[in-house]
This record gives sequence, structure tokens and C-alpha cells, in this order.
Amino acid sequence: PKSKPRSRPARLPPGVSEDVFAASIEELRRSIGTENVVVNDQPLQDGWYLESPNTHDAFHVIEQEELVCSAVVYPGSTEEVQIVVKWANKHLMPIYPISIGRNVGYGGAAPRIPGGVVIDLGQRMHSVVNLDGENASCIVEPGVTYFALYEEIQKRGLPLWIHCPDLGGGSVLGNAIDRGVGYTPAGDHFANHCGMEIVLPNGELLRTGMGALPGKDGRDNSTWQSFQNAYGPKIDGIFSQSNFGIVTKMGFWLLHDMPHQSYCITFERDKDFAQIVDTIKPLAQKGILGNIPQLRHIIQELNVTGQRKSTFHTGSGPMTREKIRQAAKGLPLGDCSWIFYGTQYGDSASIERQLDIIKKAFSSIPGNRFWLPKDVPEDHYLHSRVQVCSGVPILRELDWLNWLPNAAHLFFSPIAPTRGKDAQAIHEIVTAGHKKYGFDLFPTLCIAGREIHYIANVIFDRADAEQKKRAVALLRELIHDCAKEGFGQYRTHLLFQDQVARTYSWNDQALLRVNESIKDALDPNGILAPGRCGIWPKRFRGKGWEL
Ligand code: ADP
Repeated sequence: PKSKPRSRPARLPPGVSEDVFAASIEELRRSIGTENVVVNDQPLQDGWYLESPNTHDAFHVIEQEELVCSAVVYPGSTEEVQIVVKWANKHLMPIYPISIGRNVGYGGAAPRIPGGVVIDLGQRMHSVVNLDGENASCIVEPGVTYFALYEEIQKRGLPLWIHCPDLGGGSVLGNAIDRGVGYTPAGDHFANHCGMEIVLPNGELLRTGMGALPGKDGRDNSTWQSFQNAYGPKIDGIFSQSNFGIVTKMGFWLLHDMPHQSYCITFERDKDFAQIVDTIKPLAQKGILGNIPQLRHIIQELNVTGQRKSTFHTGSGPMTREKIRQAAKGLPLGDCSWIFYGTQYGDSASIERQLDIIKKAFSSIPGNRFWLPKDVPEDHYLHSRVQVCSGVPILRELDWLNWLPNAAHLFFSPIAPTRGKDAQAIHEIVTAGHKKYGFDLFPTLCIAGREIHYIANVIFDRADAEQKKRAVALLRELIHDCAKEGFGQYRTHLLFQDQVARTYSWNDQALLRVNESIKDALDPNGILAPGRCGIWPKRFRGKGWEL
């Protein structure tokens, strides 16, 4: 939707009067520069992916003016981040760090508390601090996107791969600490990080891993990007999906480029779903599938064409299975049910042998068909998988957003064990929910040897308030129904973070209570991203902020 005048004035942080806010903003401007502190009082622009706003959640599933910040701050260095954090402590100002803010489907750039001050780290802190071809590793600042890292590697002519997720415009660092995933053999971003630099909520600076040991002659430790564990408790994990620190640098392992072959296998019948999952499992556990493959439903073939839903379906409400079948007949893979998208790695003899094993494994499923990129037209999605699975960042997945006018989306992302009957159980819950609330179901399953990330992308029309209400109700119900069966979310939109945190309730919320203890110890003034991932500092806890 186009921007319109704000119906309400700039949202202030809770408990901060207009005068105090204005005075503290002036104070911050004096220390980091007037141009680096911008009050959010202009009309809100949803923009689009590559011009995504840092003022609010562009994919607003509640009112656009609800999840907004009061101001955006642009630090230019770690020292300036420390200045901002100290300022926040002095004025009890809730601050919310983002790297790029393209966290689409999970809340974008918005702070959890309306009126929080967003620290946009990416705008001025976007150096590839180190790119080590010999060690196959890098250190990046928050503003380095997958595109930027890719370009830097190409510029230096290094034979290295990055590990991009579906969309390449996000922050390498931001995605990793939100525990996003990519599709090369090193696609588990957090697992492939090595060393962090963090501004703690009291403004102190910390380095994890070997970075904690000073290098020779005051240099960075030369094994900072070589050994993850270092000595003592491994605390890196507590800075992911949390509000315990602001990450200003992070190291990553890269992969050497290698021959690869992407392919897809189509299946005829919906009812073979569980068997397909059970066939993938041993292939993944034995390491024959070198990366995380995807299993997508045929309806996804329709929306990655980038065409409107109305091209395929004129009625209101979700497409029926029969309608999907008819529409799919006109597309390259034809009328099928599930599509397995895989990529194999190694030299050509090895890839050939792996493909033999994979084809043999799936041969018992009736109507399976194997496709190589050469078998489908140039614009088919399989060619996009070739790129993403070999470390080339792209934007293809944005085509989804043509499905509806004013389209935005929310992710519903539960984890299931890799077992046919569990995958089936989760799929049934999700299918029933989508039917009840009237949404098309777009399931993508990222299947590892032991667990599945089941990702359902709920696409809605941002200009339709009633549809937005239904989307929220759908998410709330699915989170509840899945948790009842033991399936938890791996990540969720800001609005549902309390609900999801509550589902991890074993032993009277032992996990949440430990997180709260850490929060109170590290952030006694409760200034850093209060409420993120359901973790509220003492000052806010139990005072009606939990959703
Ligand atoms: P991207 O644009 O890469 O998708 P974001 O910058 O939106 O990612 O980051 C996703 C989430 O991770 C943010 O909402 C924020 O809560 C958290 N986050 C991002 N960068 C940092 C950081 N440098 N330090 C602490 N938390 C961060």
C-alpha cells in the first residue's frame, strides 16, 4: 500500500515523556552526529524487499502503525554502539538492534516494543573485516549482505562459496544470529560461525571463542576464525535468538567451490508423502544428501512463476486440490504432488554414483520422475536452486509476493522429527488450519537426517484488515495445536514470540526462567530488545507486555 499521513504522532518509548524523549535524542545527536539519529515521524513506506524500511514491519499483519520505532540510530563503529548502549542505560530507553532489517515474515525491522529505538547497524557498519582465502573464512560487520560478501569474493577471485538462504539481501551476521539456514553443505549458519564480538547491555565489549585471547602484538587472535570452542563454557549460543548483546562482528567458515548437480524428483500421489519422507531420512543420515534438500508441494510451482493467483483461479478462497492439479498441467513439471529438490556435490564420478543411490531409493514410489536443469525451461525454479545451492545469492523467492495484491507473508515454522508419520501429523494440522481460516497452503519442508523445518508461508493482503486478523488467528492456533503434539517453532514473528516461548514449558518454564536470570544479570536496566524471543527484563516482566 502507498504511504499515507500518519494517523498518530511518532510513537514514544513506554514511560518516556515527549520532553524527555526530545532532550535525550538531542543528547545522542551531540555524541554521534545529528544525521545519525532520525526520529520516526514521517509517513511510513512499506517499500519493497531491496528498499525495506527500518521504521516498522513492512509486512504488517496488525495495523501498520503498531509495530513502529520512535527513532532510528545509525552507529558508525563499535565505539558508537557502546555510546548508544550507555545512553540507553542512562535514559532507560528500550533499544532494538537490527543488521539489515530484511527479516521478512518474522517482523522485519520492527522493535518488539512499539516506540523502541531501532539501532540500524547495517547502514554504516558494513565492512568485510577479513576475508581469508587460505583459512576459507571471513569476519563481517552487521551490514554485509550475502550479495556484498559474494561480490567481494568474486572481486578478489577467490574460489569460495557463501551459504545464502532463499533471499540474498539479508545480513550474513543477522541471519546467523536469528538462526536462519542456507542450502550449501554448510547451510547451518550459526553452526558455521567462528567467533563473535559483542557489545553487552552495559556497554562493555566481549569477544568469544579464540578472540578472547589477545593476539600477538595487540593483533586479533590468529585462530579466532579457526577454532570455535576456545576455553570454558561456550557462550556464543546465548547471543543467538536472544536479547543479551549486540553483535558487531562475527566470523564465518566458507566452503571451497566444487562441482555440483541440482535436480528434482516429482511424485505422483499426495498420499505418498510419508513414504517420501521416510526415504529421504536414511539418505540424509548416511550423508548421501550433502546439503539440506527441500520437499515442496506442487502449488509452489504455481507461485514461483511470479504470476497472480487470479491467473490460475478466479473464485475467492483457497485453491482446491483439483484447481491446483489443472493449473499444474500447463507447467513444465506437469500434474504431480510433491517435488523433491536436491543437489549433490563432489567430482562427477562421485555425483553419478550418489544419484544412482538416490534414484534407486525413490524407485519404489510410484510415478516418480527425475529431472535435471536441462530438462526444464530456463526460467524454471530448478535453475534458481542450482544457484542458491552453490552459494550464488538471488531474489527469486520474491516471486511469491505476486500471488496477491499488496502481498505480505508470515512464516509458520515448526520442527518435526524426520519420520513419515510425524511429518504427516504436522502436515494435517497445518492443512486443517489453513482450510479453517481460508488461506492457500504453501509448504516447504527442509529435511535433514533427524529433523524437518516445516515452513508454511502464509501470504496475505496487507490492505485487507479482515484477512490480516485471520492470518494472526491461524498462526496462534497452529502454534498451539502443534505444541500440543510436541512440535515447536524454530523461529517466529515478533507478535508470537511470547506464545512460542510459553510452549517450551517443560518443568514449569525452566528454560524461560534461566533466560530471564541471564537477562537480569546482563541487562539490569532492561534496555536491550525487551521481549525479543519472549525474554522480558525484570522492569517489564509480568506488567502486561506479554502477548
Ligand atoms: P536480516 O535483514 O539479515 O534478515 P535482521 O537484521 O532483520 O536480519 O535481523 C534479524 C533479527 O536478529 C533482528 O530483528 C534482531 O532482533 C536480531 N539482530 C540482528 N542483528 C543483530 C545484531 N547485530 N545484534 C543483535 N541482534 C541482532
